[in-house]
Amino acid sequence: MLQLPHQSLQVAAVPAQRTAAREDQDGPWHTEAVCRRDEAGLFFAPSKEPTAARLSREDAAKRVCARCPVMVECREHALLQPEPYGVWGGLTAAERRVVLARRRRREMELKKSASAA
Ligand code: SF4
Repeated sequence: MLQLPHQSLQVAAVPAQRTAAREDQDGPWHTEAVCRRDEAGLFFAPSKEPTAARLSREDAAKRVCARCPVMVECREHALLQPEPYGVWGGLTAAERRVVLARRRRREMELKKSASAA
């Protein structure tokens, strides 16, 4: 089991036993992660973080993700796990929930159209 660089950050909102990226399923993409060198604690919320501070931190994390060569792989990993906390692949946990809900809705619509045909 491997750990993404930003998984090693010590923050209260992240459970101690997080699901780590698995090399056999995710490939070596995490070795190219830009956040390996990030030590600013941008990716996970500290406990009792005020909203303005959270938004600012998340924006900063997204800027790091935007220049990451493995953003697509990271995002898909976080969606497939699914990772419940933190910024992954340029998306917050709330944004990932929206993406997953859209995907589920689209799948249901496709199933409905396939069964109606
Ligand atoms: S996309 Fe963001 S969270 Fe994912 S590996 Fe790159 S910098 Fe880290």
